[in-house]
Amino acid sequence: MYIVQIASECAPVIKAGGLGDVVYGLSRELEVRGHCVELILPMYDCMRYDHIWGLHDAYRDLWVPWYEGAIHCSVFCGWVHGRLCFFIQPHSSDTFFDRGYYYGGSDDNMRFAFFSKAALEFLLQSNKRPDILHCHDWQTGLVPVLLYEMYQWHGMDHQRVCYTIHNFKHQGICGTEMLWATGLNRESYYFAYDRLRDNFNPFVLNLMKGGIVYANYVNTVSPHHAWEARFSGVSYGLGHTLELHQSKFGGILNGIDYTVWNPEADPHIPYPYSLEDFETKANNKKVLRGRLLLQDVDKPLVAFIGRLDDQKGVHLVHHAIYYALKRGAQFVLLGSATEASISRWFWHEKGFLSSNLDAHLELGFNEELSHLIYAGADMIVVPSNFEPCGLTQVIGLQYGTVPIVRGVGGLVNTVFDRDYDPDHPPEERNGYVFYQTDAEALESAMGRAFDLYSEHPEDFRQLAIQGMRYDYSWNQPGEEYVKLYELIHAK
Ligand code: ADP
Repeated sequence: MYIVQIASECAPVIKAGGLGDVVYGLSRELEVRGHCVELILPMYDCMRYDHIWGLHDAYRDLWVPWYEGAIHCSVFCGWVHGRLCFFIQPHSSDTFFDRGYYYGGSDDNMRFAFFSKAALEFLLQSNKRPDILHCHDWQTGLVPVLLYEMYQWHGMDHQRVCYTIHNFKHQGICGTEMLWATGLNRESYYFAYDRLRDNFNPFVLNLMKGGIVYANYVNTVSPHHAWEARFSGVSYGLGHTLELHQSKFGGILNGIDYTVWNPEADPHIPYPYSLEDFETKANNKKVLRGRLLLQDVDKPLVAFIGRLDDQKGVHLVHHAIYYALKRGAQFVLLGSATEASISRWFWHEKGFLSSNLDAHLELGFNEELSHLIYAGADMIVVPSNFEPCGLTQVIGLQYGTVPIVRGVGGLVNTVFDRDYDPDHPPEERNGYVFYQTDAEALESAMGRAFDLYSEHPEDFRQLAIQGMRYDYSWNQPGEEYVKLYELIHAK
């Protein structure tokens, strides 16, 4: 099959979080399975150009209709660790992708509406006719809308769309300007409840809802989160839309790319290790401590890696730091905050802990350091409020770093409590799970992990090794996506 991924991220060239990992890892897996995969991405000024090979202009004169006129774009082409990527660069005073950031503009909805339109226009004008368009999150929710309302009448009538929702929290809310800019125009038609009208606010349009309504298949990134999205409040108002479209909605657990996340061959860790020589992991802990100026003494080291925002349970993350210190453990945090108040809060904590030899807060995004932390830490804490899939606990498992997680979303599908899990025998358990959102719940799970670490070190080691035995590669999810593509392509 010929598959084109249209997305706002692809690791490591454009990565703000798990979406980037998934777009890259899934594309690679599909290619390994013999499919032809291409990616269409925005050409941000701030992306990691050092991860693109052979960048050259592939299509110079792409004119994308926009309002009454058209925006002139160049399309560049290059390989991102073997994946063929097309980058769309608009030349307009809007400077859509030349802002020094991926997300965060007040006109993000228009930036990505433009990107969705430009991606389809590129396919049309360059005569590319993929079997499957795979779109991701609100940024590309408009692709199936434009395909079925506009581009199929220009000759793109055999393409089918798989739409993956990585996070329901951001849905792409916009007004009528989006309709006039993209040429969809007919306000009363798109403002219908069964099309793009937002389920809460009748005066705005919702791009993610458009993706759900128009795509041939919609999925979120774990089976448990698919259930939560329909039956609990975590789909942020889209539950009824999912209910109406339940026959084409499901959950597929994300994988991680084992060529990127592999403690045996990770270029960012000084001491490679595997199940067989698990003891070597301790050398990475030493190096991590040296790099972050932590004291090298016999203590467990707990890590948190992730965005510092409400979704990730920032209050519990904060509590985890001080509980770890109280219990005589060490804590390393790697995170970035987009909200100013959270950023200020953690900068304050960083200052407060700056002379503490058992804690280090690294505020910012640092891909290379994240690898060393996964390898050097003993435990990784993921106290999320909601978590569609979550990759940090899965990467932790792969690196023999015991996850301590809240039992929500994809965390439920990947981490099984050592002390109590009726569905998994003791030899298949791999971490610690707590359910409530209060500090006591977190403490009880962390406390159990600390007790095992200090009182039964051999059992703790065994738990870490059991985690490493799990296969959370793209193998199984890759197979599921291919089946899905075949299903929608046959229709
Ligand atoms: P998200 O909700 O952000 O997508 P996931 O757990 O699905 O969360 O994926 C997070 C990905 O981003 C992981 O690969 C993690 O290692 C990475 N990551 C998150 N924050 C940072 C950071 N500050 N520096 C480096 N990598 C990070």
